[in-house]
Amino acid sequence: MDREDLASRRERALGPAYRLFYEKPLHLERGTGVWLYDVDGRRYLDCYNNVAVVGHAHPAVVEAVARQAGRLNTHSRYLHEGVVEYAERLLALLPDPLDVCMFTCTGTEANDLALRLARAATGRIGAVTLAQAYHGHSVAVYPLSTEDCPETERPPWVAVAPAPDAYRAGADEGREAFAAGCGAAVGEAAAGLIRRGHGAALFLCDTAFSSNGVLTPPPAYLRTAYRGIRDAGGLAVADEVQAGLWRCGAHAWGFEAAGVTPDIVTLGKPLGGGYPLAAVITRREIAATFARGHHYFNTFGGSPVAAAAGLAVLDVIEAEDIPRNVAETGRHLADGLLDLHRRHPLVGDVRGGGLFFGVELVRDRATREPAPGAAARIREHLRENGVLLGTTGPHGNVLKIRPPLVFGRRHADRLLHKLEESLAWAESRL
Ligand code: PMP
Repeated sequence: MDREDLASRRERALGPAYRLFYEKPLHLERGTGVWLYDVDGRRYLDCYNNVAVVGHAHPAVVEAVARQAGRLNTHSRYLHEGVVEYAERLLALLPDPLDVCMFTCTGTEANDLALRLARAATGRIGAVTLAQAYHGHSVAVYPLSTEDCPETERPPWVAVAPAPDAYRAGADEGREAFAAGCGAAVGEAAAGLIRRGHGAALFLCDTAFSSNGVLTPPPAYLRTAYRGIRDAGGLAVADEVQAGLWRCGAHAWGFEAAGVTPDIVTLGKPLGGGYPLAAVITRREIAATFARGHHYFNTFGGSPVAAAAGLAVLDVIEAEDIPRNVAETGRHLADGLLDLHRRHPLVGDVRGGGLFFGVELVRDRATREPAPGAAARIREHLRENGVLLGTTGPHGNVLKIRPPLVFGRRHADRLLHKLEESLAWAESRL
């Protein structure tokens, strides 16, 4: 099937709301480990896809899903060992007092449920979110996805606080004070919600700050922000859809780097290694307040097959010592990216850790004028050269590097080599 034909059939059948990556869309056929293959057999190094957390088509995950699908796949209204075991295994990875796990299928649903839990627990409806955030697409969560939802569509129960983007703010000195100031803005936003009569039910924050361009604020940020929302009577909700399962290195969860414990944690993308599996983790008393007024049921959320996928992913993470790989490969990749930063004027800033990096491109290092055009050209150039990554951030000028966590040193070296070629190519065209 010709690529143009398939693209126009797709547009006819799926409608105009969808987007495709790349000027020349990729037509992929299969994947294995960190590699994706197109229909012509061309191989691409996947530096983008976090859902395939233990690599594309990991045999242990494929086998576990197939085995369970061939045996039983119902829902959470029957007893099933696997579902309970998976909840227990996940909870064991989270700090006390987070001791209840509720399943959904997507990150959007997890955040939607978190919003309902927080509203039930606090008796208030207001929510604080960050500028340029992404948390999902449901009617309730979309307004919290400020990356997509325009101000004109923002309901009055949503208050927006600035992202702790020290580089854009030019706060290279005094990063601590800047982070604390941004954190305090969460409390101020919550106070605004109280003044408007909505009250503050929660502060929802992606602990990897992915759509903000991958930020790594000092611990003062989340500490101050969590204090602010709690002082206002609301709950602190960590959206770990991106950061969760060792993505950011040293810890299983993004919030751990700040030494804080959220009231609610939402998980998604990588949990099922490609199978739709997401979760909300909270304290028993929060779940209990909700349960007084509502039952919870989600047909596909936490099915036996979903649980089998989730268990297989956790088993592989343990068996292959993925956390060690993330830390080691991540350090190596960070060194290489910082080296590119030193040698290429287009690179204004390198942020991140573990296996999640943002490489911010600028037209001028002194003014920090964003270079979204160069970022898009580099993304396309890399695709032509067999490497897949994305762009993100409020100006679309941040290269997003977020490979499956089985990405090894030799893959990092290949990425660095190809990225250097693309940077040099883009710089020669400035
Ligand atoms: N939260 C964050 C931080 C996300 O990145 C995403 C997806 N990009 C979501 C929530 C929504 O997840 P889903 O697409 O599974 O609904």
